[in-house]
Amino acid sequence: MLMAPTNTHTGSQSHAVASIPEPAATDPRDSDFQFRPIGYIRSPFDDKFGIPRQARLAPAAQARLELLPPYDRDEACSGLEGFSHLWLLFVFHQDCLTAGWQPMVRPPRLGGRAKVGVFASRAPYRPNPIGLSAVEYHGRVRERSGLVLHLGGVDLLDGTPVLDIKPYVPYADAVPEASQGFAQAPQEARWPVRFSPQAQRELSQADPENRLQLQALIEQIIGLDPRPGYMDRYPERNVFAMRLHGCDIQWKIATGHALVTRIIAGTQQRPSGYTRV
Ligand code: SAM
Repeated sequence: MLMAPTNTHTGSQSHAVASIPEPAATDPRDSDFQFRPIGYIRSPFDDKFGIPRQARLAPAAQARLELLPPYDRDEACSGLEGFSHLWLLFVFHQDCLTAGWQPMVRPPRLGGRAKVGVFASRAPYRPNPIGLSAVEYHGRVRERSGLVLHLGGVDLLDGTPVLDIKPYVPYADAVPEASQGFAQAPQEARWPVRFSPQAQRELSQADPENRLQLQALIEQIIGLDPRPGYMDRYPERNVFAMRLHGCDIQWKIATGHALVTRIIAGTQQRPSGYTRV
């Protein structure tokens, strides 16, 4: 069971570097909430590097939401079939539950340099590390393991606990005239993505029938430039690795494009990130 951190009333606007500890629950305004995950996400993303920064940026990021008993009842999902998109409320469970939070954060969209308030950001490190994603809904299937919802365009780590599902309702949720502050839409693709001959061979072994949409996923993710914003300052660091669907994807920045050099299936989990040669 996951427990949301105690409500805070620090009201502090301090720019202290250290994380703000949660206050002792002596204030009568403090409330504890206990939420039980209704299910868990199975996604291609074995670790955080490479996960799109928002939902629907990489449509090939397909995932399953495996509902847990007693929430895995068909009645609980009846009516969802009319909806193309769902809101997921989930917990940023990796690192964020214990890491604390800071009042100002550096969003990747600002190159990792400028700071904005945590409540002006979609950063995972927040007082209550709860995330919100509008994802594609591709239907539900009853499997031996239980009820599974098929999703697309996710920005969720494998194993993410989901607290709730709500239908995305365009008449209420879509606001075409909304202004978007510093979070302007990302460019289509930072660079074209090519595959070395070896990577092409490995790709056809790793995903022979294109069931995983691995090629499209790699192209979409690398095209979005998954590197942290500050990496532009280190052009000499141009070799990267990430894990998708259990494969080690190695790539580098070449002149005018990104080149995928290796796709190694079935390796032990290895650190992803940058400058791994
Ligand atoms: N759309 C959501 C929102 O706005 O609340 C998530 C946006 S957040 C910027 C997306 C990032 O959260 C991903 O790129 C990944 O680095 C991180 N992330 C995704 N799932 C996570 C999890 N379960 N635990 C911790 N971090 C996660």
